[in-house]
Amino acid sequence: MIQVENYVNGKFVQMSENFDDISPSDFSVIAKIPRTKNVQDAVDAAKAAFPNWSQLSIEERCDWLDILADALENQIHEIARLESLDTGKPIDVALNVDATRSVNNFRFFANFGRSLESQEFKMEDATNYVKRKPVGVVGLISPWNLPLYLLSWKIAPALLMGNTIVAKPSEITPLTAHFLAKVCSEIGLPAGVLNIVNGYGPEVGQAIVEHPEIKAISFTGGTATGKIVAATAAPLFKKLSLELGGKNASIITDDADLSIAVPGVVRASFLNSGQICLCGSRVLVHSSIYDEFISKYLQELETFEIGPVISEEHRSKVISYIELAKQEGGVILAGGNIPEKNGAWVEPTVIAGLSHLSRTATEEIFGPVVTIHKFDSDKEAIEIANSTKYGLAGSVWSKNKGMEIAEKIESGMVWVNTWLHRDLRVPFGGVKDSGVGREGGMWSIGFFSQAVNICVMED
Ligand code: NAD
Repeated sequence: MIQVENYVNGKFVQMSENFDDISPSDFSVIAKIPRTKNVQDAVDAAKAAFPNWSQLSIEERCDWLDILADALENQIHEIARLESLDTGKPIDVALNVDATRSVNNFRFFANFGRSLESQEFKMEDATNYVKRKPVGVVGLISPWNLPLYLLSWKIAPALLMGNTIVAKPSEITPLTAHFLAKVCSEIGLPAGVLNIVNGYGPEVGQAIVEHPEIKAISFTGGTATGKIVAATAAPLFKKLSLELGGKNASIITDDADLSIAVPGVVRASFLNSGQICLCGSRVLVHSSIYDEFISKYLQELETFEIGPVISEEHRSKVISYIELAKQEGGVILAGGNIPEKNGAWVEPTVIAGLSHLSRTATEEIFGPVVTIHKFDSDKEAIEIANSTKYGLAGSVWSKNKGMEIAEKIESGMVWVNTWLHRDLRVPFGGVKDSGVGREGGMWSIGFFSQAVNICVMED
């Protein structure tokens, strides 16, 4: 049994009250998690660490990120083991997606920091010098689907730009953040630079968002929670980045190369049991290739390994949508049932015959459930793709029309003939109800710093 602890001011701290971390694979209790309600100690530690950390040169902080990346890389299999234990995902997904990217986040921002150039704007009689100052103490809040991957995506640029941190992993998946704290302690990261607190969102998460001395909040999670975070943070004039939910479309056009599209769309539908905000949960297929695509897609699905969903509670939500789909007139082409084994398992489920405006096809399910929709023209495919309140991501599978269609999709990211192919320099984020702001590359640098201008008049 693992005892998760908070990491505050370089020390591991326990709380008198704890709650259970449950394995999604078999419902056993795998850890005890401290129930924190107050973040004052963590904020005090971050404030005390701020002067020294922010005064290091950017090169020195890049070196720290590299040291962290090295230390994590040395233990990459342990990260994967913990992530797989906590989330139930297959170990190769935990290794190749979660653990690898967590290391890369630190490595990427170390290199990116070294390549940052100073900005100057010359006038006829003066020069403007743009300085990037740290924001101060920042609050980082992350979800359970890609636990260390998403938390480190925030921690690395926040540290790079000289901020100190109060971070909160999801209360459902705290193990790898706890492991990161141990690694920070081992490498001697200065005390208070990174503080990690655990507990329930409405308690410790809310305490972070409403703390007046935390000057920026980077939040990744559901759209409903994002509304609460925004309402709390706005009157305090905090910088706010919100990475929220999605209901992404994968569009397969009449000229698609099915040898690429079929495995690509299955992966986009079901990787991480469909629990990635970028997953394509609506599959839009041109009528001329519909039968061939569906038959190959269902065949490919049989070979695709998925884990359970994150919890019994979440499975109830997923199952309720499968029931809703039947009421809405959906036809189950695959799955739809709960396998007979312990744990939060659900069969990967494919549903056809629904209106693209049905609740099943427009609300985020965040599980291994996909709806299929037939279209007759590219214009119709674009209309269907844009018919939800979300606008996070999407993919187009087409030999000749990918770019043309991609530009008309209302979402922050579109892939053509691929999916989840990530260059960490590019903007990441959603439009409509999928979020506010962008992270990645220069966008993270911008969020985790305050740009100030000094205009110097020439003699
Ligand atoms: P969630 O909104 O329930 O929780 C996210 C985090 O917010 C957790 O750490 C939680 O404890 C915390 N939280 C809850 N209430 C809070 C409050 N009042 N104040 C502050 N923090 C609070 O989301 P989840 O169920 O953990 O994750 C799934 C959701 O995340 C899905 O909607 C998915 O699309 C979204 N997501 C988005 C992205 C993206 O980059 N856009 C990435 C991954 C997941």
